[in-house]
Formats: sequence, C-alpha cells, structure tokens
Amino acid sequence: MERLICDAMLGKLAKWLRILGFDTLYEKEVEDKKLIEKVEKTGRILLTADRRLAVRKVLRGKVILINSFFLKEQLKEAIKKLHLEIRRENLFSRCLICNSPLLPVCKEKVKNRVPSYVYMTVSSFSICPLCDKIYWPATHKERMISRLKYLLEV
Ligand SMILES: [Zn+2]
Repeated sequence: MERLICDAMLGKLAKWLRILGFDTLYEKEVEDKKLIEKVEKTGRILLTADRRLAVRKVLRGKVILINSFFLKEQLKEAIKKLHLEIRRENLFSRCLICNSPLLPVCKEKVKNRVPSYVYMTVSSFSICPLCDKIYWPATHKERMISRLKYLLEV
C-alpha cells in the first residue's frame, strides 16, 4: 500500500485519506528543502498543491500534484493518480490525529476513560498505540460514512 505525505495546504485531504485507511503523514513544514528531505528520508509519495514544487526534478516519480481546491475533487485526484484501492476493512483503521494503525483494546481497559453511556452501549474499542486516543464506532462514524459516500459518489 502507498505511503503518503500531504503538504501543508492539504490537511483536509490528509484527514480523509486516513479515514480511508491510507498511511498518510501531514507535513506542516512549508520550506521546500525540508519537505524534499522528508520525502527522501521516508520514501513516501508527496501530495502537493504547489505546482512549482511538483515539477522539481529531485521529486520526479515521488510527487503527485493536486490541482483542485475542493476536497471532493482532491480525493478523486489522489485516488486516480495513485491508483488507490479503497477497502472496507481499512476504513477507520488509523488514528486520525497521528496516523498510527489502531489496535483493538479490551473493554475493561477503557472503562474509566470513556463516558459511561458509551461504556454501557459499545462492545468494541480500539486504541492508538502512539497518542493513546480511544476510538469506538459511534454516530460521528456514521456521519463520516455518509460524507464518504458523498465524496466518493458511491
Ligand atoms: Zn494517535
């Protein structure tokens, strides 16, 4: 699976690529030199809205130019240009904050860390091993799914 970096202008796109389960860093560094170093160091593909950066020789084969300002079009561009394959089992498999793959965690362990109505009604939880955020299937997930259907036109 592709490993990606979105540049500073593509924060929303980075978030939605994570929701879809793609390994996506969001790089706030705006200096070209440091961004290029990061691409070289990590071996990731850079998604940028910066036309000038996208044509740099040093990035040949390692960069995708995103033309649109609109999330829906940006997602479409990224999926098409990178031949990304969306799999249902990958949805919501990453931490939306830090991009780490989530791990299942047993219910008892999160007892004191989630609201009690959640604890009573939800049976499966996952946790981010890096930033320790707890996730569970909830209404925001349903909203995200309907938004995804809109964004992906499925
Ligand atoms: Zn995290």
